[in-house]
Amino acid sequence: MNERDSEQVARMFTEGGYTVTKDEFKADAILVNTCSVRDQAEQKALGKMGSMVQHRKKRPHVVYGFMGCMAQSRGQELFQNVPHLDVVVGTQKYHKVFEYVDGILQNRLERRMDDLKLTYKGDHICDIDEEKDSQNTIKDHVKETTDPTAFVSIMQGCNMKCSYCIVPDTRGRERGRPIQDIVEECESLVARGVKEVTLLGQIVNLYGRTEFPKVDGKSPFVQLLEAVHAIEGLERIRFTSPHPIGYRDDLVEAFTYLPKLCSHIHFPMQSGSDRILKLMRRPYKNEKFIEICKKMKAARPDMAITTDIIVGFPGETEEDFEETVKCVKELEFDNCFVFRYSQRRNTPAADMLDQLSEKVKEDRNQRLLAVVNEIAQRKNNALVGTVQEVLCTGPSKNNPNTLNSRTPQNKIVILEGNPDRLVGKVFKAKIHECTGFTLYGTPIIESLEEAE
Ligand code: SAH
Ligand code: SF4
Repeated sequence: MNERDSEQVARMFTEGGYTVTKDEFKADAILVNTCSVRDQAEQKALGKMGSMVQHRKKRPHVVYGFMGCMAQSRGQELFQNVPHLDVVVGTQKYHKVFEYVDGILQNRLERRMDDLKLTYKGDHICDIDEEKDSQNTIKDHVKETTDPTAFVSIMQGCNMKCSYCIVPDTRGRERGRPIQDIVEECESLVARGVKEVTLLGQIVNLYGRTEFPKVDGKSPFVQLLEAVHAIEGLERIRFTSPHPIGYRDDLVEAFTYLPKLCSHIHFPMQSGSDRILKLMRRPYKNEKFIEICKKMKAARPDMAITTDIIVGFPGETEEDFEETVKCVKELEFDNCFVFRYSQRRNTPAADMLDQLSEKVKEDRNQRLLAVVNEIAQRKNNALVGTVQEVLCTGPSKNNPNTLNSRTPQNKIVILEGNPDRLVGKVFKAKIHECTGFTLYGTPIIESLEEAE
């Protein structure tokens, strides 16, 4: 989601005549989009912004800005922590970042023409207000890319109140975009060569529930999936994240008649203990979570399920933790993000008395990861010798001589071959090797010719 928001901001700068650089030493403006979900992410962003003050020495006009969740939750106080900061822009104001930064920059450059020795203090612009219809502002994409995959933000905010989570505080109430706007965005991406879209929201399956009616017993989210599915030239659809609440049979069924939906869901479980789920204010029982997973596997036998789990929530006993481990073993997730519980400001769980030590959290983290990794690697090894359909996305980051691709189950397959021929295509590949989480495959040329 943050990546998608950053892309929107980048696009506004390129439209305004700027170029995007990853080299902070060359930049005239340095913007850090921040996540607040865990404390570690905030500390990293603060550390990075602090260390970048050095650029002011050589380039005194550099504009510094924080955007996103930490900007939203800390607001003005960030100027005390980071004196060289110029701009703090919250989660409903991404569309204003360009205006603020460009304004400061032009002003500084003009003043500098008169006095070359001029130095600047932070400008201290802070905009973290609510903005009606801000969900409709995240809609443009950077033009200069050959990536055949794209993220599309379908909604903002969250109306749940999970007791550990800062998101409702930083992202506001749930607000969906109209189906037609989303479809048009997807169509324009497809016209540019995009083959796969991932629809983004905090609880995607609740998309539009307060704004749009059900039609023929189908939720607005399933209506949206059908509309996006009808786009010619689009080959794959993903979404993240769904939530057990409101995960109804119309969505399960959609996987039986919408073949472009990939056989993968990232479905956060958080805990396998009903007692902890209740303390987390997650309004479902473990049994219900398991039942949905089973229905999804019945609808699509090749369905891969990945999940998020928090370990070390306040009051989590060894028995609670063991219930989580048991459930992970039973459901055999294809992969799992394990998070150590992190105390967040203004959340009820932060004030719970029974906070666990970092040692206990780390111990459970490691034990759960060992179980998760063993299952994931066993499942990946079983794919050696099989043929998988892949979408080739571009050169691999680790070794640019090889190409990255993904199966519908979202597993990475490394390929060798001619990028001009393979990138952006969906074809079959024979898997010949597996090193834990990475699969290696060989394109099957006949299937590629069919794709052409
Ligand atoms: N809306 C999604 C989750 C968004 S946050 C959902 O409800 O499914 C992404 C993940 O961060 C969560 O699934 C959770 O596992 C983790 N997370 C959120 N708050 C956390 C906290 N305080 N400490 C540790 N992990 C947290
Ligand atoms: Fe946070 Fe819960 Fe909303 Fe997900 S559903 S964003 S975990 S409050």
